[in-house]
Amino acid sequence: MAEKAQIGTMWLGGCSGCHLSIADFHESLLDVLELAEFKFSPVLMDTKYDEVPHLDVLIVEGGIRNNENRELAEMLREKADFVIAYGTCAAYGGIPGLGNLHTVEELEEEAYINSCSTVNPEGIIPSEGVPHLESRVRPLHECIDVDLTIPGCPPRSDVVAQAIITLLNGETIELPTTNLCEV
Ligand code: SF4
Repeated sequence: MAEKAQIGTMWLGGCSGCHLSIADFHESLLDVLELAEFKFSPVLMDTKYDEVPHLDVLIVEGGIRNNENRELAEMLREKADFVIAYGTCAAYGGIPGLGNLHTVEELEEEAYINSCSTVNPEGIIPSEGVPHLESRVRPLHECIDVDLTIPGCPPRSDVVAQAIITLLNGETIELPTTNLCEV
């Protein structure tokens, strides 16, 4: 491991709310930055996906909803030594997982044709230039190997910060057994 650990974050099929709990690290961020530096994150920096460096720890928000989510998860797994499934969507599918109550065709018709905010008189469902929904939403561990799961919607900032600090100190992470959500 380099002098400071290289950390990355990524969002897949989620709402970006889990990244807000990283933004809420507050003074714990100073403790994290004593041990690590952020090298890849859609929130913190503009790194192209084909320029992602090797990462000691990758924090992944969101599950696998579409082919782009899956391909990015597989690519980033290759880059990262330790992957954290971060938040309830990554852990279990979360709110996007409610889409599993419907077929892909039903979801696309609702999104592109039937919803009250849609104006699409020709009823076109785009098939090019957009990610394709997979047959169902999957938690991250059904797509790639995951080393640690931190549930919560979003997870509590102090729990996440402490988990990262504990991990980078080479100690055993013990998550609280209750009250993992920020609100
Ligand atoms: Fe958003 Fe909650 Fe899913 Fe995190 S777990 S991405 S906050 S819905």
